Amino acid sequence: MGIRKSGVLIILLTSLIISACQNETVDLENLVADHLKPIEGTLSEKSEFTIVDATRHEGELTEDGEAVIVPETDIIDVIVNKERRLPNGYEPEDLMIADVDYHAVNEERKHLREEAAGALEDLFEAASEEGHQLVAVSGYRSEQTQEVVFASNVDRHGEEHAEQYSAQPGYSEHQTGLAMDVSTASIGYALSEEFGETQEGKWVAENGHKHGFIIRYLEGKSEITGYGYEPWHLRYVGEDLATSVYQSGLTLEEYFGLVE
Ligand SMILES: [Zn+2]
Repeated sequence: MGIRKSGVLIILLTSLIISACQNETVDLENLVADHLKPIEGTLSEKSEFTIVDATRHEGELTEDGEAVIVPETDIIDVIVNKERRLPNGYEPEDLMIADVDYHAVNEERKHLREEAAGALEDLFEAASEEGHQLVAVSGYRSEQTQEVVFASNVDRHGEEHAEQYSAQPGYSEHQTGLAMDVSTASIGYALSEEFGETQEGKWVAENGHKHGFIIRYLEGKSEITGYGYEPWHLRYVGEDLATSVYQSGLTLEEYFGLVE
């Protein structure tokens, strides 16, 4: 009897321990799921695109002690924003230089991932056929470069401005190799809101999706994207998704139901 009792006790204890461990796992999954939860009855049902699994970056916490969400990275529709960072030291493996016009770009920043680079060539060619001269100004940035960019923005414009217009290392779309800042000669190749008023800026906003690009940081959406309006910042997501997002008029975050 005694042996059976202790056997039962051991089984009970074991299952308690197991369920305690499982609870911990479930909490972690909930944490991730909360960030990825689609808004019911809205976009995610219409969308054939699904958010990828996100995993917690081991041991990495925000200043508030919250776990940082690290999305799967090598997919074209990866979402990187101020809440979703890339793994430490992430570097795409298929970076290359598109055959387009550049303005004052160092070698690193000419790079894009292979698929995005090909699409950029198509985009620039289509623009050119309609008389618009797009110029690439800034593409891939490594985590180290981003560190320098952010620090210099803080130095020059202060922390608040730096947060609004640039990203902390690991949190920049430019590190994915899927984003290119573009401009045009008529505004001196500036990356400014003015670009949105040029014929090139208007053309790219209306036609970018046909080649897989969206204007990532839309006007009036800074509460959602975390960035001011950036008509010059093109993000490659592939033609189908870009078209669908463009037609929805939404930001990527809204499109994927990542905001309440
Ligand atoms: Zn940019």
